[in-house]
Amino acid sequence: MTRKLTLLGATGSIGRSARDVIKHNGEAFSVAAVVGGSDAQALAEAARETGAGFAALADPAGGPALREALAGTNIPCGAGESAVLEAVDRETDLVLAAIAGTAGLRPTCAAIRRGRAIALANKECLVSAGAAFMRLAAAEAVPVIPVDSEHNALAQALGAGDPADVDRMTLTASGGPFRDWDRARIAAAGPQQALRHPNWSMGAKVTIDSATLMNKGLELIEAHHLFDIEAARLDVVVHPQSIVHGLVTWRDGGVTAGLGAPDMRIPIAHALALPGSRLDTAAPRLDLAGIGSLTFEKPDLDRFPCLALAITALEEGGAHPTILNAANEIAVAAFIAGRLDFYGIAVSVEKVCARMLSSRLAAPVHVEDALALDAQARRLMQELIGAPVTAGV
Ligand code: NAD
Ligand code: MG
Repeated sequence: MTRKLTLLGATGSIGRSARDVIKHNGEAFSVAAVVGGSDAQALAEAARETGAGFAALADPAGGPALREALAGTNIPCGAGESAVLEAVDRETDLVLAAIAGTAGLRPTCAAIRRGRAIALANKECLVSAGAAFMRLAAAEAVPVIPVDSEHNALAQALGAGDPADVDRMTLTASGGPFRDWDRARIAAAGPQQALRHPNWSMGAKVTIDSATLMNKGLELIEAHHLFDIEAARLDVVVHPQSIVHGLVTWRDGGVTAGLGAPDMRIPIAHALALPGSRLDTAAPRLDLAGIGSLTFEKPDLDRFPCLALAITALEEGGAHPTILNAANEIAVAAFIAGRLDFYGIAVSVEKVCARMLSSRLAAPVHVEDALALDAQARRLMQELIGAPVTAGV
């Protein structure tokens, strides 16, 4: 039977990988709707390619360009927030949440409120609104299937035993492009160098987060919410080859790990297939003998202070992760725009967290509370940096 999918972030790196999986599996899927940010041409291409039932561009100014680009097709389209919500309203079996950043929170929650199963790539949803997001999903009896490679591997590994028997969970980190650089060299690195990830080809925001290791910190917070596991039982190990993605250590000392080539089509295919059987992908097969050796090392919190900041946010909980996430989004955009240097990201994120947390702020109870805190943290970060920096990365 054909499964209906809705693709939020259809034009991004994850969105394109998902489209490749869909193409590869011919009749298995139909696409109810595609959603993109501001690139009308790219969204029209995604809509044509997938034969989508509807196309929505978040940027209201892009409506005419989208209509023009879809002329000659009978694909209905719209632009602006109402169009995005209309896309989410379309009948579907599964929504792939692959918008970058907190911008994905409202549309993803709208999909949850309509009872749609969620394949979640957009980790910022869980960092910003973690408990509120998971409560909403539980209240609507909606499954949240991890797409992030580490969490997808962990979810698969968990299938080997009883979750009550888990001792620890470990996420691997590639270490990013600066893994073996000294502090002075990292300090002088610009966006061009930080955007050159050794193993994964991804959107700009997550690529910079991978260079600072903030990405791994965000992923610890993501794992905490997805698997209901406390900070003390979560580990990070640097693994430059990105072959082992996540490991579950059981109470008896046994370990179940998820492995695969560093290709997002693999976890995407796993998530899109659930609860059905596995799909085919064009992703390369793992050739262990060809790779030769897998290496592991401890993360260096001195050279990568963003990871330390995220661990503190996870341990403290409350409003801290929401603020960290929002401040980081603005700081990353400022770094890409050449307005902050590399270590300026950590310094300014820490400042915003310290300033906002000096008054007691409650943990967001509802997703809207998280969005209000998020907006406050963004404003403070903008002030700190100077003139506004858009986070549209
Ligand atoms: P990307 O920047 O390549 O794509 C982002 C997508 O979101 C685009 O389709 C863009 O048009 C859309 N978008 C941006 N702002 C929007 C808005 N306001 N409203 C609607 N749509 C908007 O990012 P990506 O690398 O595909 O990452 C997407 C998410 O998946 C991120 O949260 C990232 O952390 C996560 N993720 C990505 C990878 C990866 O390999 N790329 C791996 C794991 C997790
Ligand atoms: Mg990941």
